[in-house]
Amino acid sequence: GSLLAATGLHKAYGLTRALDDAEFSVHPGEVVAVMGPSGSGKSTLLHCLAGIVRPDAGTVCYAGRELTAMPDSERSALRRTDFGFVFQFGRLVPELTCAENVAMPLRLSGVGRRAAERKAAEWLDALEVAGVERKRPGEISGGQAQRVAVARALVTEPAVIFADEPTGALDSLNSERVMQLLTDAARASRAAVVLVTHDARVAAYSDREVVVRDGRVRDMAGALR
Ligand code: ADP
Ligand code: ADP
Repeated sequence: GSLLAATGLHKAYGLTRALDDAEFSVHPGEVVAVMGPSGSGKSTLLHCLAGIVRPDAGTVCYAGRELTAMPDSERSALRRTDFGFVFQFGRLVPELTCAENVAMPLRLSGVGRRAAERKAAEWLDALEVAGVERKRPGEISGGQAQRVAVARALVTEPAVIFADEPTGALDSLNSERVMQLLTDAARASRAAVVLVTHDARVAAYSDREVVVRDGRVRDMAGALR
């Protein structure tokens, strides 16, 4: 069955219908690209699926539990243990070293400093940026910073990875390499990936594409590839 599924999602901001009866589901190990024009509701869908935004109506179920019915504290805890996030601009903490940035999600879930930094180093190596451990985000390139951000999203081995234009700030060479590494890691660990992008070359790394138009999600399973 599906790991994460949403039905009947509605979300309005004032008079803007960001989501209008949207439906979505993803299986373990599946990479789904969420495509569509700017302003169509892609980010709102991702935020509702991740429990960051509360839909006005509809339900989001994760691993058989209704995310939309959970108390905030429980949903936040689940987000930390089960979900990983990659954004367009890495959003690394500038004051911390790259190793500390990647280790942070583990530290927050109670892993000791040495073990967390060892794991961080392994993931930085997997993302082909071994050597940046002691540098701060401001001292490395944009492509390297985004790899560090991907390492940080993967370090807790989340069941679902949410990626919102994860390569939007990268050149095409870096973009393709980051997508390859991200999707390889996800498939190896059977993580589901919800990948928001408007770039067909990025979506090409997915198993399936869905298109959001005016807040409505149309399932394009297989039709585009
Ligand atoms: P996309 O990710 O496809 O660009 P979004 O989900 O960001 O689309 O936005 C969908 C619509 O909802 C847009 O019209 C946008 O302006 C509006 N919207 C999104 N977030 C907010 C917000 N926090 N406040 C007001 N309007 C918003
Ligand atoms: P408020 O009290 O302002 O209505 P809550 O305290 O319920 O908001 O929610 C805090 C934050 O958690 C909000 O930003 C909201 O987007 C998010 N949130 C709350 N409930 C849900 C839900 N059922 N599903 C997804 N996100 C939620």
